[in-house]
Amino acid sequence: MPASKDQYGRSIDYLRISVTDRCNLRCVYCMGEDGVADKLRHDEILSYDEIERFARRAVRFGIRRIRLTGGEPLVRRDLADLVAALKRIGQIEDISLTTNGILLPKFAAELKASGLDRVNISLDTLDKEAYRRLTRLGELSRALAAIDTALEYHFDPVKVNMVVMRSYQQDLFGFARLSIERPLHIRFIEYMPVGLSSGYQNQGWRDDEVIDSAEVIATISATGEASGLGPLLPLAGGDSFLPAGGGPARYWRFAGAAGTVGVISPLSNHFCGRCNRLRLTAEGRLRPCLFSDVELDARAALRLGDDSAIDAVIADALEIKPKEHGRLQSTRRLMSQIGG
Ligand code: SAM
Ligand code: SF4
Repeated sequence: MPASKDQYGRSIDYLRISVTDRCNLRCVYCMGEDGVADKLRHDEILSYDEIERFARRAVRFGIRRIRLTGGEPLVRRDLADLVAALKRIGQIEDISLTTNGILLPKFAAELKASGLDRVNISLDTLDKEAYRRLTRLGELSRALAAIDTALEYHFDPVKVNMVVMRSYQQDLFGFARLSIERPLHIRFIEYMPVGLSSGYQNQGWRDDEVIDSAEVIATISATGEASGLGPLLPLAGGDSFLPAGGGPARYWRFAGAAGTVGVISPLSNHFCGRCNRLRLTAEGRLRPCLFSDVELDARAALRLGDDSAIDAVIADALEIKPKEHGRLQSTRRLMSQIGG
């Protein structure tokens, strides 16, 4: 069955599944220093069986790609078992993972064996002290080791996601240069107003922290030229250097580079018209839009044990998926609760 279209004609073939609200880091833009205040109880979280059942119904609506996220998905026990179960659903063409990488070296072998296709690693700075300040708990060397591991195990493509914030004075060019020697796809993400109540260092989201993607690309390109590396060259659709994934990123590369540089610009360049996704939270709420708190209770449907109830929830989510989000729309939930 082809991907279902929503009422605005968008093909929805991508499902992000948050497997936990817990995390081993406390990134300043994502949660408060004490983590998520109201942690979900074990029985509130969807079991792997329930997630698999949901995914089996979702493929009937055209879902073909799944991303596992969190919280930190690798803190949930036996994640590879879930990957293997999802892989057994024949119609799923691609299973990916978004992780902070801290536990990736430990689990990479079993994830690869269970059929995980690719990983995105979140890393916001290459400075040891700044990494500690940003994540409050993390060690930079472990995140860097995760990148090495991802390449070693041939997850393909390997993307590195960096949230750009003005006051952190991140070395944008230093990051972009990671794409030269190795086939890494370095993506700069605009800081988003999600979970306003406990976002940036518990003071809430701040507009003046956002750096538009256009400025990011201009800065990197100018530094590339000044350093003799040359400017960033835009990649058009269909270019063989574009990494797989089909998401909202736009890409460039340095001449001769093994990887690419990309941006994800939810604020400065709305991609709602091309949005292809639904999100399932750890406690089984189906969320049609990242920036809207409207959610549907998939868990209740799953626990009724009635496939038609699950189908109705998915159909409703497609029906009510909004056309677009506003510039400063915030959310009640934290990013760690939604899964990014
Ligand atoms: N723990 C995993 C990780 O960090 O990759 C997966 C979950 S995390 C919520 C998913 C992504 O959301 C990460 O790349 C993170 O940097 C991003 N993120 C979290 N809060 C954000 C915010 N306020 N604006 C932009 N991106 C954010
Ligand atoms: Fe954890 Fe990821 Fe949020 Fe950082 S961004 S606190 S690693 S869930």
